[in-house]
Amino acid sequence: SRPEAERRPLTLPPNTSLEKFNDFMQRIADIIGSENATVISSDNELKHESYLDPSKAYDMYHITPKEYFVSSAVVAPKNVPDVQAIMRLCNEFEIPVWPFSIGRNVGYGGAAPRVPGSIGLDMGKNMAKILEVNVDGAFAFVEPGVTFIDLHNYLVENNLREKLWIDVPDLGGGSVIGNTVERGVGYTPYGDHWMMHCGMEVVLPDGTLWRSGMGGLPNPNADPNAPPHEQAANETWGLFNYGFGPYNDGIFTQSSLGIVVKMGIWLMVNPGGYQSYLITLPKDENLHQALEIIRPLRVGMVLQNVPTMRHILLDAAGNRKSYTDSDKPLTDNELDAIAEKLNLGRWNFYGAVYGPPPVREVLLSVIKQSFLQIPGAKYYEPKDMPDNIVLQTRNDTLQGIPSTTELKWVDWLPNGAHLFFSPIAKVSGDDGVAQYQVTRQRCEEAGFDFIGTFVVGMREMHHIVCIVFDRKDPDSRRRAHWLIRTLIDDAAKRGWGEYRTHLSVMDQIADTYSFNDNAQMKLNDKIKAALDPKGIISPGKNGVWPKQYNKEDWKV
Ligand code: ADP
Repeated sequence: SRPEAERRPLTLPPNTSLEKFNDFMQRIADIIGSENATVISSDNELKHESYLDPSKAYDMYHITPKEYFVSSAVVAPKNVPDVQAIMRLCNEFEIPVWPFSIGRNVGYGGAAPRVPGSIGLDMGKNMAKILEVNVDGAFAFVEPGVTFIDLHNYLVENNLREKLWIDVPDLGGGSVIGNTVERGVGYTPYGDHWMMHCGMEVVLPDGTLWRSGMGGLPNPNADPNAPPHEQAANETWGLFNYGFGPYNDGIFTQSSLGIVVKMGIWLMVNPGGYQSYLITLPKDENLHQALEIIRPLRVGMVLQNVPTMRHILLDAAGNRKSYTDSDKPLTDNELDAIAEKLNLGRWNFYGAVYGPPPVREVLLSVIKQSFLQIPGAKYYEPKDMPDNIVLQTRNDTLQGIPSTTELKWVDWLPNGAHLFFSPIAKVSGDDGVAQYQVTRQRCEEAGFDFIGTFVVGMREMHHIVCIVFDRKDPDSRRRAHWLIRTLIDDAAKRGWGEYRTHLSVMDQIADTYSFNDNAQMKLNDKIKAALDPKGIISPGKNGVWPKQYNKEDWKV
């Protein structure tokens, strides 16, 4: 067979001949070794279908044909100087790279690039060290390949969980860095991952190494002869985010301005006790009253964690066919019947209290009193429902123990894949119910069941609508794509904006953030041009296109 460096990729990078691509790949192999550089040259590379074995090259949950969002090659740097050398090489060849850490960003595009043929920069394969767990300061520093499961296991194996907990998203197989820079969330009191990050080391598009905040101040004990990425950092880097002067960390989230090679994350001190619970609400119309109850409790921190209000079908988690033979979206009566069969509510509220017994008791008594005003509401603890897999899983998730069980609702349809439509909502009965009604109606118009959850942050809710479709059925894909596009417009008209999105609708959502003649995008464009004048990092990411690209050419 031909050497890897001379294979023709399924899709070449833009404006790149095969010859130029081969030269580029040869130079890449000189930096990282050919074993770390894979050309995506055949359909065989596009066969991964499972979260547990994710693709590094294409979007497993594609709504466009699966050959569209595909990288030309996947390259895995071994260390920070490799990343710097790759940035310089990409500038020289003007070839775009799309960094990812693990590629389990499922529902938003996975590892796939926005511009077909970009080089996938696999940051997680060789750079996966837990660099430090600092018990007194309650923080950790990690490299891109460290997953939530890895970090949790490290605490367990080193007998540290008695001191420190991590916060995890629904699924634990993604990376701490990837999830945090995408501003993903978890469910303990530390659920806002970005809020809890502290300290970043970033390779800028020109190859410069930058440390954020207090990391800008050299550690007097650091070896000045060591390369910068190996120099001991300032001891307050993981303790105080802001340092001195403009605070730049935010520009490296949901962005295309740098490659994150190290990050600090605050850990939660083991609170000395924990109790999770489920409150079931029997009727669809209970949602309004429940959200009105949640707002003061959450903002007042009686609800200490990021609780969730989940629709029955998220918890029914399984094969649709086991509930119905109908092809039509389930009716209210059918949904009630499913709830009854599962001994759950139409809406189900999962929360937890943290602290020693007297603290928990007082908080729980307020929580119970508040919610049990709702007619028919019931309170359960995990011991009351040993067979309820969702409650048992939430019991782990809400104390920072990662799992992969939450995947099950994706199997609602055959060849189940999903997209997330995720608008921000006020914590109010009127707003929550309005979002539920608009999104449910559109889901049903598209021929899908509504599956969703309200994730309650400090002062708002991430309303996550899970659009489950059959990835092998072109009509199902088309309807899913129509649905998300339509929902984005519906939402923007009402002043609702999404917090994160799939590759295929990044432009559309960016366009909705249009205040004052698109002032946000104009600033993004200026920063992009200043830091990445050749437009090599993640062109098109979150709707930011370097000047080398005409975004109309990349419409999907
Ligand atoms: P996960 O770790 O959850 O699997 P991904 O690795 O798929 O997440 O990353 C999600 C997104 O986050 C990527 O598409 C990319 O935009 C961004 N990202 C991930 N890792 C990095 C990194 N090390 N540097 C810069 N951006 C990153």
